[in-house]
Amino acid sequence: MSIKDFFWFYLSLVSSVIVLTAVFYVLERLAPAEPDQTISKRLFNSTYYPFLLGWLLLLQLVLAPAYSYFLRVSGGGLLSKLLNPPRGFVAQFLFALVFAVAWDFWQYWIHRLQHAWPMLWETHKFHHSETALNSSAQARQHFLNAILFAVLYIPLLILFGWLTPHFVASFLMFRVWGFVNHANLRLHFGSLTPLISSPQWHRIHHSVFAQHHDKNFAAFFPFIDLLFGTYYRPQKDEYPPTGLSPEQYSGNLREATVAPLAGLYQLMLGRARQLQNPER
Ligand SMILES: [Zn+2]
Ligand SMILES: [Zn+2]
Repeated sequence: MSIKDFFWFYLSLVSSVIVLTAVFYVLERLAPAEPDQTISKRLFNSTYYPFLLGWLLLLQLVLAPAYSYFLRVSGGGLLSKLLNPPRGFVAQFLFALVFAVAWDFWQYWIHRLQHAWPMLWETHKFHHSETALNSSAQARQHFLNAILFAVLYIPLLILFGWLTPHFVASFLMFRVWGFVNHANLRLHFGSLTPLISSPQWHRIHHSVFAQHHDKNFAAFFPFIDLLFGTYYRPQKDEYPPTGLSPEQYSGNLREATVAPLAGLYQLMLGRARQLQNPER
């Protein structure tokens, strides 16, 4: 991809996100879970989004040789040898569904470890520091989180190979649902709650209340949480406030930039000291 192509592609992504942001802003005013949210609450995330998109694209370019290498050594993907490329709309839709379940299963465990391991928590904390959850919060991902997921995409690439959705398809699939999941809406999916993630179901994951902590990790499919014992089905009117405790929060700009790096440095320093003086 030439620099010009890269630039135009980047602009088209930013434009699509601006449209989505505007559409969701209107939708979220129809039945807000938190009616008092001001527009300033989403301005920071929306301003941060173009930087995140640029970073995601750059990572794709930097990792392209590694992705090609693993595609080559896996012979185009282990599963693509067993499955012919799906033909026809139904077959392609079903295959996309299989891929989405596999991806969500994989991200479930990465996400769960991000909550369990202090070093990985530093890559994810920024996302959880949003005190006024709305659709713009899906852009609230630190660049360390993007590196983690871009690198850990390689096992899926080895498995699915050529059958892995193109970056644009993945973008549509994952980013657009991120807008839905984080929307400031009083919206649940009723009896479909265990099947597909809703704004209410994901709000529980961001809740400040202890009974909701470490629940509802899946991005699309709540039954994955059901399978591994982290599923929480909200009550009809359960729309908790969100965010982190004050001692975990260091401010928007700091959270988005240096705070996770400083946190990682402190953790590594502590670990090095422990290794030097094990009895301390
Ligand atoms: Zn989380
Ligand atoms: Zn979230």
